[in-house]
Amino acid sequence: MAPDLIVRGLRVLTGGTVRPASVHIRGGTIVDVAGHDDVPEGCPVVDTRAGAVVMPGLCDAHVHINEPGRTEWEGFETATRAAAAGGVTSLVDMPLNSIPPTTTVAHLEEKARAAEGRCRVDVGFWGGAVPGNAGELIPLLEAGALGFKCFMVDSGVAEFGHVAEADLREALAVLAGTGAPLLVHAELPGPIDAARAAIAGLDPRTYAAYLRSRPREAEDQAIALLASLCEATGATAHVVHLSSATALDILRRARDRGAALSAETTPHYLHFTAEQIPDGATPFKCAPPIRERENREALWAALTGGLIDLVVSDHSPCTPELKQLEAGDFDAAWGGISSLQLGLSIVWTDARRRGIPLERLPDWLCRGPARLAGLRRKGEIRRGFDADLVIWDPEASFRVEPPLIEHRHKVTPYAGEELHGVVEATYLRGEKVYERGSFPGEARGRWLKREG
Ligand SMILES: [Zn+2]
Repeated sequence: MAPDLIVRGLRVLTGGTVRPASVHIRGGTIVDVAGHDDVPEGCPVVDTRAGAVVMPGLCDAHVHINEPGRTEWEGFETATRAAAAGGVTSLVDMPLNSIPPTTTVAHLEEKARAAEGRCRVDVGFWGGAVPGNAGELIPLLEAGALGFKCFMVDSGVAEFGHVAEADLREALAVLAGTGAPLLVHAELPGPIDAARAAIAGLDPRTYAAYLRSRPREAEDQAIALLASLCEATGATAHVVHLSSATALDILRRARDRGAALSAETTPHYLHFTAEQIPDGATPFKCAPPIRERENREALWAALTGGLIDLVVSDHSPCTPELKQLEAGDFDAAWGGISSLQLGLSIVWTDARRRGIPLERLPDWLCRGPARLAGLRRKGEIRRGFDADLVIWDPEASFRVEPPLIEHRHKVTPYAGEELHGVVEATYLRGEKVYERGSFPGEARGRWLKREG
């Protein structure tokens, strides 16, 4: 079929390699990936600069948009602008921190209405698994939810309860055989409660006290329990925002036994270390916490070794007031780091420093998350896939300054950092949605529903 647009370059990331190629697009779909000069006469061609890379648009499968209900924290318009500016062409919204949470079909429909007409990139939704809603899970899948998220520990918001072992087992049993994953915030309350006694009397402004309040054991024990339930039920589960490196062996052993258990980590666990976080610096607060340098190195080894499957932002914004910036109180501050717009640059900056080649990025940032979410047309530059592309310069760098940030709120622990990897343009289904600070066209993002 004749293309109606061609994007070509000398460095196109396709099929696990970087090579000169032309991406042939028709009606927003990739119809061919051909040689650089294999271009039919008369077809419009976008020629990228010599140093630029053409990569699949990122899929960020862990984003809290908070609309409706907490739109003062973030919203579909601001979040999807940030996404487009960061080369993210599809994202999946988390079921909590919006009000209502996405735990029933009616709530999913309410969220979809809130998103309609406001999104600059494609958006899907995870449903929520909470105590007592096991009967809602299949109807939610049928209504378009891509899978589910649950918490094994307090979620931080009253309207999204956390599951006990029996609830978790029930949700996994319901989902077994559907192919839809259960995403799990894997920390158990026991070790956290025990730690609370141990840190009583410590200054809540110190990062050391915060780190001790969320020990690795909370993650390790949760992942061990999840793995056993996963094996018992045959369901597919996924550990979100893995931070504890001591959980990696538990994960490896479970997978060796055949458990369908995958894991993600986030840019902040791969970039920062506990040792560098100043006391009172609450922009760094997230749960589980950013841990020690040696922990970070083990996460990188697991990522490059394939044990950690993918990297997503866990973009979790709030108002600046809730970050308690003045008081610097880690105990009182909202936990969450916003990096939807910066994920590509952060991961690339650290990968580049470590001598990891560009070719590794699409599996972690594009294909891996798209597969988790069951998005069969996303995450690859390949015939039959959506023409979602990010054109970026891996050698160019920029300083993270608040005015550049498109998130609703500009508080970020990355402020002042020099990052490599500048996004030049983003294409969603063959149409340009971002170019060097501007957002051409209307908000034309679609709802990505579960495919049967
Ligand atoms: Zn999250």
